[in-house]
Amino acid sequence: MTRFSGQTLTAIDFAADLFRESRCAVVLTGAGISTPSGIPDFRSEGTGLWSRDEPLEVASLTTFRYSPHQFYEWVRTLMGEWIAAEPNPAHRALAELESAGRLQSLVTQNIDGLHQRAGSRRILCLHGTLDSATCGSCYRQTGSEEVLTALRTPGALPRCVRCGGVLKPDVILFGEQLPRATLDAARREFRRAELVLVAGSSLEVVPAASLPLEGIERGAHLIVFNRIPTYLDERADVVLHEDVALALPTLVRLALHDNA
Ligand SMILES: [Zn+2]
Repeated sequence: MTRFSGQTLTAIDFAADLFRESRCAVVLTGAGISTPSGIPDFRSEGTGLWSRDEPLEVASLTTFRYSPHQFYEWVRTLMGEWIAAEPNPAHRALAELESAGRLQSLVTQNIDGLHQRAGSRRILCLHGTLDSATCGSCYRQTGSEEVLTALRTPGALPRCVRCGGVLKPDVILFGEQLPRATLDAARREFRRAELVLVAGSSLEVVPAASLPLEGIERGAHLIVFNRIPTYLDERADVVLHEDVALALPTLVRLALHDNA
């Protein structure tokens, strides 16, 4: 049993009330929900992947096109961490909330597929997913196995079995636009929301960071669960600077079962 301070528990209890009263809740998740699963935060200073490497050089569309070997050396590390990761109690809590009919959709900045593995169904992946890859020449889409198999051979590039083109993981790289249809669908979800939950996102990356505004400017309530402050804290009904892997399961237990 997690021990929270009385003040924290009161905040979580109030957030649970908002879920019980809301007919349409939408959540935005970011790196903070997957760090307890061992997926490094791409952007936190000092510990993130971006501070180990130079992202604009490595995780960019330009590197993929002109130095695919360098690009895949980076992806190899990322995919190793990804394969080893398992959904944590926060991922599972959101899946439970959805299956209980208390969460209408989940929009994520994460590419790790852990929400899907935890059982969430209505998901929009703003930055794409590592679960699949697409051939840059003939656009054939395939599962991630072909990429993983190729990466076992040092120096090999994952290639399309049909045309020999280089496969690209279906993630949005620096220099790439977010898919228009996904972004539009996410905006629609937030516009119809009565309740917006931000979980594990520091809201520093646009356009994802501006999505909750679509809801709160139309009167939606806002809950922010994130380890560090965000620019929307002052507009939130409930703010909690806690580890989401601890706080979210408590919120969901209270919202669904009324006991923590
Ligand atoms: Zn191809």
